[in-house]
Amino acid sequence: MTSSYWERDTSRKIYAPLQKDLETEVLIVGGGITGIVTAWNLMQAGKKAVLVEGDRLGSGVSGHTTAHLNISVDAEYARIVNDFGEEVAKQVAEAASLAIELVGKIDSAHQLGAHYQKVPAYDWAETTQEIIELQRELKAAQAAGIRAEEVDDLNALPFPTGMVVRWEPNARFHPLKFIYGLAEVLLKAGVQIYEQSRVIDLTEEGDAMEATLENGTTIRAQQVVLATHSPIFMHSVHPRMAPYRSYALAVRTRQELPDYLLYDMKDPYHYIRKEADGVVIIGGADHKTGHAEDENDHLQQLKDWTEERFGIAEYLASWSAQVFEPADRMPFIGRSPSQKRVFYGTGYSGDGTLWGTFAGYLLSDLITGKENKWERIFSPSRLNISAEAGDFLKMNMEVAKDFVADRFQSDASDVKEVGLDDGKIIRQGVQQYAVYRDKQGGLHVMSPTCVHMGCVVQWNKLEKTWDCPCHGGRYKATGEQLEGPPAHGLRKADL
Ligand SMILES: Cc1cc2nc3c(=O)[nH]c(=O)nc-3n(C[C@H](O)[C@H](O)[C@H](O)COP(=O)(O)OP(=O)(O)OC[C@H]3O[C@@H](n4cnc5c(N)ncnc54)[C@H](O)[C@@H]3O)c2cc1C
Repeated sequence: MTSSYWERDTSRKIYAPLQKDLETEVLIVGGGITGIVTAWNLMQAGKKAVLVEGDRLGSGVSGHTTAHLNISVDAEYARIVNDFGEEVAKQVAEAASLAIELVGKIDSAHQLGAHYQKVPAYDWAETTQEIIELQRELKAAQAAGIRAEEVDDLNALPFPTGMVVRWEPNARFHPLKFIYGLAEVLLKAGVQIYEQSRVIDLTEEGDAMEATLENGTTIRAQQVVLATHSPIFMHSVHPRMAPYRSYALAVRTRQELPDYLLYDMKDPYHYIRKEADGVVIIGGADHKTGHAEDENDHLQQLKDWTEERFGIAEYLASWSAQVFEPADRMPFIGRSPSQKRVFYGTGYSGDGTLWGTFAGYLLSDLITGKENKWERIFSPSRLNISAEAGDFLKMNMEVAKDFVADRFQSDASDVKEVGLDDGKIIRQGVQQYAVYRDKQGGLHVMSPTCVHMGCVVQWNKLEKTWDCPCHGGRYKATGEQLEGPPAHGLRKADL
């Protein structure tokens, strides 16, 4: 798997796995930005919390993000105003501002040294169509009370820009310094943290929830937060979101760039920021999970674009990770519609360091019974048919197509065609197998059926993982679960 610029640059403490049964008030599953900020808010509210992480803290998408905290969210104010009205757009903007400030507040209160810096953000449009879209977005953002304005030019960019909009407020930070630093603060304050502690089962037992870990230990809790990016197990939000993969590069550019957040209006768009050390981090080249011919090509597209626009003087790191886009574009943050003791935050699109931070604040209020004005608009129980129906139908028709078409797919008919450190779907008769040959030549044969809802996983040639195109379940090359919704690995099989 690729590793991010943040991972190169950070030392970390190791937390031991849970070895004995526990009871607590709140169990948080997942040690990314959502889990860690939820734990911090619960600590502030005096709640007893335990955080379990299946791998290492920050090893999920939060360690592979680009960590812009931008007021110009992916949900797009023009869409929010159109689908939900101006009042909701105002509340979304206020929620985003709250998250932008909260990261800074936590960073400075605990002196995490997470390089939090307020910076301006600019969108630029090049074509007539992009200008029309940016004008529409600007008008809606202003109606939502955001400080957004058209500015003359963005002289900082070495190419002509047709229209430029400046946004405030925004910030950038170092996600792993933030997560690792905050984990130590939590530990000192009595929050128990366990790594390599994967939850594989969760049941309601009397007046509490009981989670079972891979090693058989159990945790009983009054309330559970599934901070696993997409909630593990079966949830009604899964068919309401689509998984996408996005790519990022850390480089030193030949063209000096300012310390701004920058976005073009392409589809998929490019997103750019600087880090405190002057390194430029550029993201983009997104595609639907499992739908790339070769993921390496998307990374190459991003490199080519960067070289052409700014010139690459030094190449430092490249990586990719997954985001979840809801049909109505709004994140789902709140209580599970089917389990009153279970809460989650998901569907953040490309704004999950922002929404994950906000989720930490909102979920903590819901758990402690405090009234919160944002409860309704982000609730996973919301249903706005007109906002959701079109994209919901489109994404579920794609799921249905993948579900059927991938059953006839094969990358090879013989294991001899699987090279070292490579994976292929092999078809023999009516049976399909997911086959990985490790670097030593050992074969790992699995059923390619995703344990979540039965779609066929696809080999990701860049990350060397098995990715499910339907709801974004991901597995290591050797089949172990990596990312929700599945809570366990691919089933072993014999050829
Ligand atoms: C390339 C890229 C760039 C991005 N850039 C931005 C950006 O600039 N700004 C922004 O706001 N957002 C951005 N995002 C989105 C954002 O990074 C994510 O939405 C956010 O980090 C998700 O945080 P999380 O805590 O919910 O999930 P994660 O960070 O994925 O954490 C979930 C954790 O749960 C653990 N887990 C999973 N299953 C289990 C289990 N069964 N038991 C125990 N633990 C489990 C995982 O190991 C993982 O550590 C970007 C995303 C990508 C892919």
